[in-house]
Amino acid sequence: MIDKFGIYPAAKQIRSPFYNERPADTQISLLVIHCISLPEGVYGGRAVEQLFSGCLDCSEDSGFADLQGLEVSAHCVIRRDGQIEQYVPFVKRAWHAGVSCFAGIEGCNDYSIGIELEGTDHSTYTNEQYLALSALTTQIQLRYPAITTERITGHSDIAPGRKTDPGRQFDWAYYFRLLAD
Ligand SMILES: [Zn+2]
Repeated sequence: MIDKFGIYPAAKQIRSPFYNERPADTQISLLVIHCISLPEGVYGGRAVEQLFSGCLDCSEDSGFADLQGLEVSAHCVIRRDGQIEQYVPFVKRAWHAGVSCFAGIEGCNDYSIGIELEGTDHSTYTNEQYLALSALTTQIQLRYPAITTERITGHSDIAPGRKTDPGRQFDWAYYFRLLAD
């Protein structure tokens, strides 16, 4: 169960410096699904954790060069084996969506929760990830009931032309079926 501070105790807790307060009186009312892997398509390493913790050595891989100085985070990351890591308490504003708009309201970071699946825009996802994501989503919806199923979206839908994650392989129908069970 998610506590009043927005901590999901079943997740491994890792601190990120990349968050701030949500605007006063903001209702948490959107869930945004993303994907990430560093290097892209390489799973199980520590680079994502280091990026969100602000300690990634960008000289480590040629693909990391454009990550220099980037201050990004998400509330949670779901690994390929279904393990969940939490970087930012849900009550705080994580920095995952960037320039974005949902149903006419811009700045989705203000009022959303961001969950990253370890993967790429072209990957399929593991069943363990779907099961962990649906279990986490159910807890999020219990704690923040304004996040109705109609208000679960992909990064590509709130930042079209700029973002393509979680990608066309993400099985929305299966995810929503699990949520309905
Ligand atoms: Zn994203």
